Amino acid sequence: LNSNVLTVVDQRTAHVTILASERGGRYPDGRSLLITGRELRLLVDPSLSVSIRQEEMPPVEGVLLSHCHEDHMAGLHRFPAVPCSVHELDMPALRSIEGLMTAYGYTGYPAIETRWRRTVLEDFHYRPRPDAKDLRDGEVIELGGGVRTHVVHTPGHTAGHCCLLVEPDSVLYLADVDLSSFGPYYGDAVSSLGEFEQTISKLREIEAGHYVTFHQIGVIEGHAAFIERLNRYAGVIAAREQRLLELLAEPRSLPELVARRIVYRPHDDVPFADPVERRTIAQHLERLVQAGAVTEVEPGRYVAVSR
Ligand SMILES: [Zn+2]
Repeated sequence: LNSNVLTVVDQRTAHVTILASERGGRYPDGRSLLITGRELRLLVDPSLSVSIRQEEMPPVEGVLLSHCHEDHMAGLHRFPAVPCSVHELDMPALRSIEGLMTAYGYTGYPAIETRWRRTVLEDFHYRPRPDAKDLRDGEVIELGGGVRTHVVHTPGHTAGHCCLLVEPDSVLYLADVDLSSFGPYYGDAVSSLGEFEQTISKLREIEAGHYVTFHQIGVIEGHAAFIERLNRYAGVIAAREQRLLELLAEPRSLPELVARRIVYRPHDDVPFADPVERRTIAQHLERLVQAGAVTEVEPGRYVAVSR
């Protein structure tokens, strides 16, 4: 592919093309993949850049979504007749805009929900795909000529999030296990901190030649470099928990903690910061209480247990 639109170039292995993203994969854009076998060509996570350059792209026989987030399906509207697949746990978010909004979990924040719904529909071109098919953990998709894609269910970011291992290229597509300095995102209603940690352990064991993220980082070569990044990335979870414990040196309620933030910086202008902070902090609080590190001093007020 030689994009007339983008100033950056695609990267390739033998059967995988990592489609360039004008913004270096920075949100709201990201890196989509083309996987080409002798019989089939699949497009993975069509981004905003794919939406722009669709006309110069080769025909594809299928679209795979790693998960249902607005930025990973912003180009899907360009392929209305192409079969599309996602893990069944993310299917409700692809069947309807209501399902997607429920998955984000901004109920209780009607102004945020109304604004975000409009953004998803207008800026990310969301179109429901009630015809989508299931991707299953362990499934192997044969593309012909020995090219195959293994589906690895990696929940946490969303319930149905999947990574893809493409052989024989030894490319592990990490999607939104994005290894960024921001750290793991588990702030949606369908996210899970505990599952994300299990996913990190599971991915640690996969020795691939190339690791590819949807956002900034891009391509990482080899298992050792991947593990180094993964450790730093996982460390953000512990740093958030430490920040929460520091905030709980005095008793605070969940709304007070949300106002202080542990995910975003105080000055970050993120429209959905409050519901994301709330969901994230609630998950950390729950396990800190279970571990006896935090106690509920009166209903709805928490404090760290001094040791
Ligand atoms: Zn995502």
